[in-house]
Amino acid sequence: MSEKTIFSAIQPTNTPHLGNYLGALKNWVLMQNDYNCIYSVADLHAVTIRQVPAKFRAQIRETYAILIAIGIDIKKTTLFVQSHNPHHAELSWLLSCYTQFGELSRMTQFKDKSEKHSENINAGLFTYPVLQAADILLYQADLVPIGADQKQHLELSRDIAVRFNNAHSPTFTLPEPHIPQNSARIMSLSSPDKKMSKSDENPNASVSLLDERDVIIKKFKRAVTDSSSEIVYNENAPEKAGINNLISIYTAVTGKSISECEKEFSGKGYGDFKLGVGEAVADAFADIRGEYERLTADKEYLEACMREGAEKALKCSVKTLRKVYKKIGLV
Ligand code: ATP
Ligand code: MG
Repeated sequence: MSEKTIFSAIQPTNTPHLGNYLGALKNWVLMQNDYNCIYSVADLHAVTIRQVPAKFRAQIRETYAILIAIGIDIKKTTLFVQSHNPHHAELSWLLSCYTQFGELSRMTQFKDKSEKHSENINAGLFTYPVLQAADILLYQADLVPIGADQKQHLELSRDIAVRFNNAHSPTFTLPEPHIPQNSARIMSLSSPDKKMSKSDENPNASVSLLDERDVIIKKFKRAVTDSSSEIVYNENAPEKAGINNLISIYTAVTGKSISECEKEFSGKGYGDFKLGVGEAVADAFADIRGEYERLTADKEYLEACMREGAEKALKCSVKTLRKVYKKIGLV
């Protein structure tokens, strides 16, 4: 096993979907065998957008249980709920004093999200990347798996770490981006020019990890494609975004190559193909759903896992936080 530490998190903003699974979570399961993995349900991050308390509480538990259901091993990894470790909020305050207003103003996610939630542009939405830096730096993470949307935030985490290290003495490990192999970017089933997203209000746009078989198949049958009929992958044709996305999903879920997929469906129409993709996804999710149901039937077990995860996280982060307090000069 490599000594390297990986940190990654998912927000409990809604039930994780096929995009989260193929783009991130499936790799979390693979990485646990090769790295010291620290995985978090980022509930504090989710508060930047107004949550309904009872629903939020359920979503935090659901997300945590789903991570175990897909195969995250709580013995091999540190799997915890962010707010169960108060060090994140503590370090975030201190690091915010090492972050410049101008730096945060340049974050494109802040610009996007404040446009989307113009009725609630709160300070948390603005300082969100500082909390993210605290998440990563607390555990001295070497690697952070990221999609293109998070590149700017990781660079900021590094800048904050460098600034602190220079002001005092080496304290934080500088995290490197980790681009996982075979991670697919999955697009919305109803508007294939947009990414599949938890916060999309259209239920037909995404497939949740807990959708039932017939619901999954129905959503794929409705997936937006184009007016031709050949199942051929063409990255350079924007009008083919729908069919390209379905081919990406099919190959990611079955492990087949694009040409194998094209061959398998040659001479068949979009209808047959959509059914094939829907069935493949439903097959892949059947075990996850079963495992999730088994897990949630035992509330005590889940709570015990959460407690154990939080203890492991605290034990690791307290070392960093103590160092930081001391270097700053707090008594
Ligand atoms: P939200 O709409 O609330 O931001 P999200 O669907 O973007 O939700 P996140 O919790 O922000 O999900 O991201 C969790 C992980 O899933 C991240 O690593 C992110 O890069 C990845 N991810 C999110 N959407 C997709 C997608 N459509 N395809 C591939 N990976 C994705
Ligand atoms: Mg997101």
